[in-house]
Amino acid sequence: MKSYDVIIIGGGVVGCMTARALSRYQLSVLLIEKESDIGMGASSANSAIIHSGHDPVPGTLKAEMNRLGNPLWDQLSQELGIPFKRTGAYIVALDEPCGCLDSLYDRARENGVPAEIISGEEMRRREPKINPTTAGALYTPTAGIVDPFAACLAPLENAIHNGVEVLTETDFSDFLFEGRKIVGIRTNRGDFACRWVVNAAGLYSDEVMHKAGVRPDFKITPRKGEYYILDKTEMQIENVLFPVPTAVSKGILVLGSTHGNTLVGPNSNLVPEKEDRAVTPEGLAEIWSHSQRLIPSISPRSIIAVFAGLRATGNAHAQNVDYSHDFVIEVPAEVQGLVNLGGIESPGLTSAPAIAQRVVELMQEAGEKFVEKKEFDPIRPARPRFNHLSHEEQAALVAKDPRYGRMICRCEMITEGEIVAEIHAPLPAHTYDAIKRRTWLGTGRCLGSFDMPRVVEILAHELGVSPLEITKKGAGSEFLVRPTKDVEG
Ligand SMILES: Cc1cc2nc3c(=O)[nH]c(=O)nc-3n(C[C@H](O)[C@H](O)[C@H](O)COP(=O)(O)OP(=O)(O)OC[C@H]3O[C@@H](n4cnc5c(N)ncnc54)[C@H](O)[C@@H]3O)c2cc1C
Repeated sequence: MKSYDVIIIGGGVVGCMTARALSRYQLSVLLIEKESDIGMGASSANSAIIHSGHDPVPGTLKAEMNRLGNPLWDQLSQELGIPFKRTGAYIVALDEPCGCLDSLYDRARENGVPAEIISGEEMRRREPKINPTTAGALYTPTAGIVDPFAACLAPLENAIHNGVEVLTETDFSDFLFEGRKIVGIRTNRGDFACRWVVNAAGLYSDEVMHKAGVRPDFKITPRKGEYYILDKTEMQIENVLFPVPTAVSKGILVLGSTHGNTLVGPNSNLVPEKEDRAVTPEGLAEIWSHSQRLIPSISPRSIIAVFAGLRATGNAHAQNVDYSHDFVIEVPAEVQGLVNLGGIESPGLTSAPAIAQRVVELMQEAGEKFVEKKEFDPIRPARPRFNHLSHEEQAALVAKDPRYGRMICRCEMITEGEIVAEIHAPLPAHTYDAIKRRTWLGTGRCLGSFDMPRVVEILAHELGVSPLEITKKGAGSEFLVRPTKDVEG
């Protein structure tokens, strides 16, 4: 049985940031992910905001992790090549001045977050497309936007560079115990021995902790958020625009993304199934009507895609969820060797680097000795994005490798060279969707109709397999099928 000091269950942003934090030290670390790729859960289906921290209830772990996490993103994005912009954000009061901006301002100050109330006139100057009835807004300058998938991939690639091992398509099923001490885990790929397990399983973190006999009453109920993505050539909003929040969510936003698209959403509805990521006509109608209140000129012509993400809401049993439900971040007393993370809903993306640091602190408090590796390298260079380079840089890249001169995705201008680089990266991309998440290929007007057959060919060639084996997102999603006898003829 292979043995590790630490095994992390879950390759979302929390697991990936934790892997990177642990890779600084002389520890053997394995991260397991049940899906064909990392970051396929909430971590790549969210609003992608690095929240200022104005919103969480003061005194909660959410407020603390948000406050500690937000400032870490400048250094992280530089070291790891993660697209990140500190844009600031506006919480917009429509129609008439409402006292809610004052109470939001007070909460922001209580959370130690810089904030300023601006007039409706100033808001209209900063965002000319905003509803002319805007009466004022709370501006939080420290909010930002990030590429959420890069926020998983980049730290994990850096962790791999510093010695961490990763296994995808590896599903945790149980703990191995000696008395109350965890000594390993059971998976579909066999057993692995370890001294510590970090539960970073997102929506499934309740089931993982129950296998250890921890918090038997803790239940995660998925809370769905639906979105529209708008075509960047038709509608561009660069600001982050919130309405004033409701009791259950931060409200339906309109915001720019690091890819240049405008995003509209999310709503907030509890759903019974942990795999129910389907969008609904009612949900889409709801987010559209709310977005039109913020930006009346928004047009359905500019819609190019829809998606939904599931928040891992802890102990929410009714539609009217208590929004103050807090993160669980603990080393539980019942067992030895578990760092238990649960209910990591928003602001979990923002907080992930701070949660990763807290994991290290909790293990230290529990007696684990952390010895820094002399050879730790914090840098993970971003791979070249042809479309972002100057003409001179593009010419130099094509001269070095002609595959950067072959355009595969015409909307997003993604070249064969970029696709090949992702297939041979430290965490290799083996499916169409894995390439899409890494390059943003196939996300323009044609939604991949032109690039898909070429990407299948490139994947088959680079992996040395038949195109019949290439999948969209893992086994069962093959693009091509073997002709049946009848068709052959
Ligand atoms: C609609 C929506 C909007 C949001 N907006 C924001 C925002 O703007 N800003 C912000 O800060 N936060 C936001 N969040 C919250 C944020 O996205 C999450 O808190 C964060 O992504 C949680 O990361 P995670 O790693 O805990 O979970 P996940 O990303 O879900 O990762 C958990 C991983 O564990 C894996 N796993 C589960 N079970 C097993 C098993 N048995 N074996 C192996 N692997 C397993 C899963 O496959 C998954 O990849 C939003 C969330 C949603 C859904």
